[in-house]
Amino acid sequence: MAIRIDGKALADKVKAQTAAAAKGLLRRPGLAVILVGNDPASRVYVTGKEKDCTACGFLSFEHALPEDTSQETLLGLIEELNRDPQVDGILCQLPLPRHLDEAAVLNAIARDKDVDCFHPYNVGRLMAGDPVFLPCTPAGVMEMLREYGIPVRGKRCVVLGRSNIVGKPMAMLLLQQDGTVTICHSRTPDLASLTRQADILVSAVGRVGLITADMVKEGAVVIDVAMNRNEAGKLCGDVDYSGVEPRASYITPVPGGVGPMTRAMLMKNILTAARHHQVRND
Ligand code: NAP
Repeated sequence: MAIRIDGKALADKVKAQTAAAAKGLLRRPGLAVILVGNDPASRVYVTGKEKDCTACGFLSFEHALPEDTSQETLLGLIEELNRDPQVDGILCQLPLPRHLDEAAVLNAIARDKDVDCFHPYNVGRLMAGDPVFLPCTPAGVMEMLREYGIPVRGKRCVVLGRSNIVGKPMAMLLLQQDGTVTICHSRTPDLASLTRQADILVSAVGRVGLITADMVKEGAVVIDVAMNRNEAGKLCGDVDYSGVEPRASYITPVPGGVGPMTRAMLMKNILTAARHHQVRND
Protein backbone atom coordinates (compact mmCIF):
# COMPACT_ATOMS: atom_id res chain seq x y z
CA MET A 1 0.00 0.00 0.00
CA ALA A 2 1.42 3.34 -1.01
CA ILE A 3 1.56 6.39 1.21
CA ARG A 4 -0.88 8.95 -0.15
CA ILE A 5 0.81 12.34 -0.48
CA ASP A 6 -1.66 14.85 0.90
CA GLY A 7 -1.22 17.93 -1.29
CA LYS A 8 -4.12 19.74 0.33
CA ALA A 9 -2.68 19.49 3.86
CA LEU A 10 0.81 20.47 2.71
CA ALA A 11 -0.56 23.40 0.69
CA ASP A 12 -2.39 24.64 3.80
CA LYS A 13 0.88 24.44 5.73
CA VAL A 14 2.82 26.33 3.04
CA LYS A 15 0.15 29.02 2.88
CA ALA A 16 0.12 29.38 6.68
CA GLN A 17 3.91 29.77 6.68
CA THR A 18 3.68 32.29 3.85
CA ALA A 19 0.99 34.29 5.67
CA ALA A 20 3.10 34.33 8.85
CA ALA A 21 6.18 35.51 6.95
CA ALA A 22 4.17 38.24 5.19
CA LYS A 23 3.18 39.70 8.56
CA GLY A 24 6.79 40.78 9.01
CA LEU A 25 6.72 42.97 5.89
CA LEU A 26 6.20 46.72 5.92
CA ARG A 27 3.17 46.50 3.61
CA ARG A 28 0.86 43.79 2.31
CA PRO A 29 2.03 41.96 -0.80
CA GLY A 30 -0.22 42.49 -3.83
CA LEU A 31 -1.12 40.31 -6.80
CA ALA A 32 -2.69 41.67 -9.99
CA VAL A 33 -4.67 39.06 -11.89
CA ILE A 34 -5.59 39.62 -15.52
CA LEU A 35 -8.42 37.56 -16.97
CA VAL A 36 -9.32 38.03 -20.62
CA GLY A 37 -12.61 36.56 -21.84
CA ASN A 38 -15.22 34.30 -20.25
CA ASP A 39 -13.62 30.87 -20.02
CA PRO A 40 -15.38 29.23 -17.03
CA ALA A 41 -12.34 27.13 -16.03
CA SER A 42 -10.12 30.23 -16.02
CA ARG A 43 -12.72 32.03 -13.88
CA VAL A 44 -12.54 29.20 -11.32
CA TYR A 45 -8.72 29.34 -11.25
CA VAL A 46 -8.69 33.12 -10.82
CA THR A 47 -11.24 33.02 -8.00
CA GLY A 48 -9.14 30.34 -6.27
CA LYS A 49 -6.00 32.46 -6.51
CA GLU A 50 -7.82 35.50 -5.15
CA LYS A 51 -9.09 33.44 -2.20
CA ASP A 52 -5.54 32.23 -1.51
CA CYS A 53 -4.34 35.84 -1.51
CA THR A 54 -6.96 36.75 1.08
CA ALA A 55 -6.01 33.73 3.20
CA CYS A 56 -2.35 34.82 3.12
CA GLY A 57 -3.19 38.46 3.96
CA PHE A 58 -2.23 39.64 0.45
CA LEU A 59 -4.07 42.19 -1.65
CA SER A 60 -5.44 41.05 -5.00
CA PHE A 61 -6.44 43.30 -7.86
CA GLU A 62 -8.56 41.71 -10.54
CA HIS A 63 -8.60 43.03 -14.09
CA ALA A 64 -11.33 41.23 -16.02
CA LEU A 65 -11.21 42.23 -19.67
CA PRO A 66 -13.64 41.38 -22.48
CA GLU A 67 -12.92 38.58 -24.97
CA ASP A 68 -12.24 41.06 -27.80
CA THR A 69 -9.55 43.01 -25.88
CA SER A 70 -6.80 44.16 -28.24
CA GLN A 71 -3.15 43.29 -27.82
CA GLU A 72 -2.41 46.99 -27.41
CA THR A 73 -4.91 47.40 -24.56
CA LEU A 74 -3.60 44.33 -22.77
CA LEU A 75 0.02 45.42 -23.11
CA GLY A 76 -0.97 48.90 -21.89
CA LEU A 77 -2.51 47.41 -18.74
CA ILE A 78 0.59 45.30 -18.10
CA GLU A 79 2.78 48.39 -18.46
CA GLU A 80 0.62 50.17 -15.88
CA LEU A 81 0.82 47.22 -13.46
CA ASN A 82 4.57 46.95 -13.99
CA ARG A 83 4.84 50.50 -12.61
CA ASP A 84 2.28 50.12 -9.80
CA PRO A 85 4.13 49.96 -6.43
CA GLN A 86 1.20 48.13 -4.77
CA VAL A 87 1.56 45.27 -7.23
CA ASP A 88 4.29 42.75 -6.46
CA GLY A 89 3.14 40.01 -8.81
CA ILE A 90 1.30 40.00 -12.13
CA LEU A 91 -0.48 36.95 -13.38
CA CYS A 92 -2.13 36.73 -16.76
CA GLN A 93 -4.47 33.76 -16.73
CA LEU A 94 -3.88 31.40 -19.68
CA PRO A 95 -5.06 30.46 -22.19
CA LEU A 96 -5.61 33.84 -23.81
CA PRO A 97 -8.12 34.27 -26.65
CA ARG A 98 -6.56 33.17 -29.94
CA HIS A 99 -6.12 36.65 -31.43
CA LEU A 100 -3.69 37.61 -28.65
CA ASP A 101 0.05 36.88 -28.83
CA GLU A 102 0.67 34.91 -25.64
CA ALA A 103 4.48 35.04 -25.80
CA ALA A 104 4.49 38.83 -26.30
CA VAL A 105 2.10 39.27 -23.36
CA LEU A 106 4.16 37.09 -21.00
CA ASN A 107 7.37 38.82 -22.08
CA ALA A 108 5.84 42.21 -21.26
CA ILE A 109 5.41 41.34 -17.57
CA ALA A 110 8.23 42.89 -15.51
CA ARG A 111 10.62 40.10 -14.64
CA ASP A 112 10.59 41.00 -10.95
CA LYS A 113 6.77 40.63 -10.94
CA ASP A 114 6.73 37.41 -12.98
CA VAL A 115 5.34 35.21 -10.20
CA ASP A 116 4.30 32.47 -12.66
CA CYS A 117 7.97 32.25 -13.75
CA PHE A 118 7.09 32.29 -17.45
CA HIS A 119 9.30 35.20 -18.56
CA PRO A 120 12.34 34.07 -20.60
CA TYR A 121 14.62 35.83 -18.09
CA ASN A 122 13.27 33.75 -15.20
CA VAL A 123 13.23 30.60 -17.32
CA GLY A 124 16.91 31.27 -18.09
CA ARG A 125 17.73 31.82 -14.41
CA LEU A 126 16.06 28.50 -13.64
CA MET A 127 18.06 26.72 -16.35
CA ALA A 128 21.26 28.25 -14.99
CA GLY A 129 20.47 26.92 -11.53
CA ASP A 130 20.07 30.39 -10.02
CA PRO A 131 16.31 30.99 -9.98
CA VAL A 132 14.53 34.03 -8.55
CA PHE A 133 11.08 32.46 -8.81
CA LEU A 134 10.29 28.78 -9.17
CA PRO A 135 7.57 27.66 -11.59
CA CYS A 136 4.60 26.87 -9.35
CA THR A 137 3.60 23.35 -10.39
CA PRO A 138 7.08 21.78 -10.52
CA ALA A 139 8.05 23.64 -7.34
CA GLY A 140 4.96 22.20 -5.66
CA VAL A 141 6.05 18.70 -6.64
CA MET A 142 9.55 19.30 -5.23
CA GLU A 143 8.03 20.59 -1.98
CA MET A 144 5.99 17.38 -1.70
CA LEU A 145 9.08 15.22 -2.19
CA ARG A 146 10.95 17.24 0.45
CA GLU A 147 8.10 17.13 2.96
CA TYR A 148 7.73 13.34 2.66
CA GLY A 149 11.50 12.78 2.91
CA ILE A 150 11.74 11.31 -0.59
CA PRO A 151 15.31 11.65 -1.85
CA VAL A 152 15.95 12.62 -5.48
CA ARG A 153 19.74 12.29 -5.54
CA GLY A 154 20.83 9.35 -7.65
CA LYS A 155 17.25 8.34 -8.45
CA ARG A 156 15.96 7.60 -11.90
CA CYS A 157 13.30 10.19 -12.64
CA VAL A 158 10.99 9.92 -15.63
CA VAL A 159 8.90 12.96 -16.57
CA LEU A 160 6.04 12.55 -19.02
CA GLY A 161 5.35 15.80 -20.86
CA ARG A 162 7.66 18.54 -22.11
CA SER A 163 5.57 21.71 -21.87
CA ASN A 164 7.27 24.94 -20.84
CA ILE A 165 4.92 25.22 -17.87
CA VAL A 166 5.27 21.75 -16.38
CA GLY A 167 7.39 19.08 -18.09
CA LYS A 168 10.58 20.99 -18.90
CA PRO A 169 10.94 22.89 -15.60
CA MET A 170 9.98 19.74 -13.68
CA ALA A 171 12.84 17.87 -15.32
CA MET A 172 15.19 20.76 -14.58
CA LEU A 173 14.33 20.86 -10.85
CA LEU A 174 14.79 17.09 -10.53
CA LEU A 175 18.12 17.35 -12.36
CA GLN A 176 19.23 20.14 -10.02
CA GLN A 177 18.52 17.80 -7.10
CA ASP A 178 20.86 15.22 -8.70
CA GLY A 179 18.19 13.00 -10.22
CA THR A 180 18.95 11.19 -13.48
CA VAL A 181 16.16 12.49 -15.64
CA THR A 182 14.42 11.19 -18.76
CA ILE A 183 11.80 13.35 -20.48
CA CYS A 184 9.10 11.59 -22.52
CA HIS A 185 6.57 13.10 -24.94
CA SER A 186 4.08 12.16 -27.62
CA ARG A 187 6.83 10.91 -29.97
CA THR A 188 8.52 8.67 -27.40
CA PRO A 189 8.33 5.05 -28.54
CA ASP A 190 7.63 2.29 -26.02
CA LEU A 191 6.74 4.60 -23.16
CA ALA A 192 6.21 1.70 -20.73
CA SER A 193 9.82 0.51 -21.06
CA LEU A 194 10.94 3.93 -19.76
CA THR A 195 8.27 4.45 -17.10
CA ARG A 196 9.10 1.01 -15.65
CA GLN A 197 12.64 2.23 -14.93
CA ALA A 198 11.43 5.18 -12.87
CA ASP A 199 12.09 5.47 -9.15
CA ILE A 200 10.19 8.76 -9.40
CA LEU A 201 7.56 8.98 -12.12
CA VAL A 202 5.94 12.34 -12.86
CA SER A 203 3.08 12.36 -15.34
CA ALA A 204 2.01 15.67 -16.87
CA VAL A 205 0.28 14.67 -20.08
CA GLY A 206 -3.47 15.15 -19.75
CA ARG A 207 -4.76 11.75 -20.77
CA VAL A 208 -7.12 9.73 -18.56
CA GLY A 209 -5.80 6.27 -17.68
CA LEU A 210 -2.43 6.71 -19.44
CA ILE A 211 -0.41 5.19 -16.57
CA THR A 212 -1.47 1.67 -15.67
CA ALA A 213 -0.02 -0.66 -13.03
CA ASP A 214 2.11 -2.60 -15.54
CA MET A 215 3.95 0.65 -16.42
CA VAL A 216 5.11 1.27 -12.85
CA LYS A 217 8.07 -0.27 -11.03
CA GLU A 218 7.34 -1.84 -7.64
CA GLY A 219 8.04 0.79 -4.97
CA ALA A 220 8.09 3.79 -7.32
CA VAL A 221 7.02 7.28 -6.27
CA VAL A 222 4.17 8.30 -8.57
CA ILE A 223 3.31 11.98 -9.00
CA ASP A 224 0.24 12.77 -11.07
CA VAL A 225 0.22 16.37 -12.27
CA ALA A 226 -2.59 16.05 -14.78
CA MET A 227 -6.08 17.42 -14.34
CA ASN A 228 -8.48 15.66 -16.65
CA ARG A 229 -12.19 14.97 -16.70
CA ASN A 230 -13.21 11.35 -17.17
CA GLU A 231 -16.29 10.25 -19.09
CA ALA A 232 -18.45 10.84 -16.02
CA GLY A 233 -17.11 14.41 -15.77
CA LYS A 234 -15.11 13.61 -12.65
CA LEU A 235 -11.72 15.27 -12.08
CA CYS A 236 -8.87 12.76 -12.47
CA GLY A 237 -5.21 12.54 -13.45
CA ASP A 238 -3.20 10.46 -15.93
CA VAL A 239 -2.67 7.64 -13.45
CA ASP A 240 -5.06 4.74 -12.90
CA TYR A 241 -4.95 5.39 -9.15
CA SER A 242 -6.57 2.21 -7.85
CA GLY A 243 -4.48 0.00 -10.14
CA VAL A 244 -1.15 1.75 -9.51
CA GLU A 245 -1.49 2.50 -5.80
CA PRO A 246 -0.70 -1.06 -4.56
CA ARG A 247 2.63 -1.05 -6.51
CA ALA A 248 3.79 2.45 -5.56
CA SER A 249 5.58 3.54 -2.39
CA TYR A 250 4.10 7.06 -2.54
CA ILE A 251 1.35 8.41 -4.77
CA THR A 252 -0.46 11.72 -5.25
CA PRO A 253 -4.24 11.76 -5.63
CA VAL A 254 -6.20 13.88 -8.10
CA PRO A 255 -7.83 15.99 -6.79
CA GLY A 256 -5.99 16.88 -3.59
CA GLY A 257 -2.44 16.35 -4.86
CA VAL A 258 -0.38 18.64 -7.07
CA GLY A 259 -3.23 21.10 -7.78
CA PRO A 260 -3.39 22.69 -4.30
CA MET A 261 0.42 22.79 -4.16
CA THR A 262 0.56 24.81 -7.39
CA ARG A 263 -1.65 27.43 -5.79
CA ALA A 264 0.39 27.47 -2.58
CA MET A 265 3.66 27.93 -4.46
CA LEU A 266 2.20 30.93 -6.26
CA MET A 267 1.67 32.54 -2.86
CA LYS A 268 5.29 31.82 -1.99
CA ASN A 269 6.43 33.51 -5.19
CA ILE A 270 4.33 36.60 -4.41
CA LEU A 271 6.01 36.77 -0.99
CA THR A 272 9.43 36.48 -2.66
CA ALA A 273 8.56 39.32 -5.04
CA ALA A 274 7.23 41.50 -2.21
CA ARG A 275 10.36 40.99 -0.12
CA HIS A 276 12.48 41.92 -3.09
CA HIS A 277 10.44 45.08 -3.77
CA GLN A 278 10.45 46.19 -0.16
CA VAL A 279 14.19 45.92 0.11
CA ARG A 280 14.47 48.02 -3.03
CA ASN A 281 11.71 50.59 -2.57
CA ASP A 282 10.71 51.07 1.06
P1 NAP B 1 0.50 20.31 -22.61
O1 NAP B 1 1.13 21.61 -22.91
O2 NAP B 1 -0.68 19.86 -23.42
O3 NAP B 1 1.62 19.19 -22.66
C1 NAP B 1 1.31 17.84 -22.64
C2 NAP B 1 2.57 17.05 -22.87
O4 NAP B 1 2.25 15.66 -22.89
C3 NAP B 1 3.25 17.35 -24.22
O5 NAP B 1 4.63 17.51 -24.02
C4 NAP B 1 2.95 16.12 -25.06
O6 NAP B 1 3.96 15.79 -25.98
C5 NAP B 1 2.88 15.04 -24.00
N1 NAP B 1 2.11 13.89 -24.45
C6 NAP B 1 0.94 13.86 -25.12
N2 NAP B 1 0.54 12.58 -25.33
C7 NAP B 1 1.49 11.80 -24.79
C8 NAP B 1 1.67 10.40 -24.69
N3 NAP B 1 0.78 9.55 -25.19
N4 NAP B 1 2.78 9.94 -24.08
C9 NAP B 1 3.70 10.78 -23.56
N5 NAP B 1 3.59 12.11 -23.61
C10 NAP B 1 2.50 12.63 -24.24
O7 NAP B 1 0.00 20.26 -21.11
P2 NAP B 1 0.58 20.94 -19.76
O8 NAP B 1 0.18 22.34 -19.70
O9 NAP B 1 2.00 20.55 -19.58
O10 NAP B 1 -0.30 20.14 -18.70
C11 NAP B 1 -0.22 18.74 -18.60
C12 NAP B 1 -1.32 18.24 -17.67
O11 NAP B 1 -1.10 18.80 -16.39
C13 NAP B 1 -2.73 18.68 -18.06
O12 NAP B 1 -3.63 17.68 -17.65
C14 NAP B 1 -2.96 19.92 -17.23
O13 NAP B 1 -4.34 20.16 -16.96
C15 NAP B 1 -2.22 19.56 -15.98
N6 NAP B 1 -1.73 20.68 -15.19
C16 NAP B 1 -1.95 20.59 -13.85
C17 NAP B 1 -1.48 21.59 -13.04
C18 NAP B 1 -1.71 21.45 -11.57
O14 NAP B 1 -1.59 22.41 -10.84
N7 NAP B 1 -2.01 20.24 -11.09
C19 NAP B 1 -0.80 22.69 -13.56
C20 NAP B 1 -0.56 22.74 -14.92
C21 NAP B 1 -1.03 21.71 -15.74
P3 NAP B 1 4.34 16.74 -27.25
O15 NAP B 1 5.19 17.83 -26.68
O16 NAP B 1 5.08 15.83 -28.14
O17 NAP B 1 3.04 17.22 -27.82
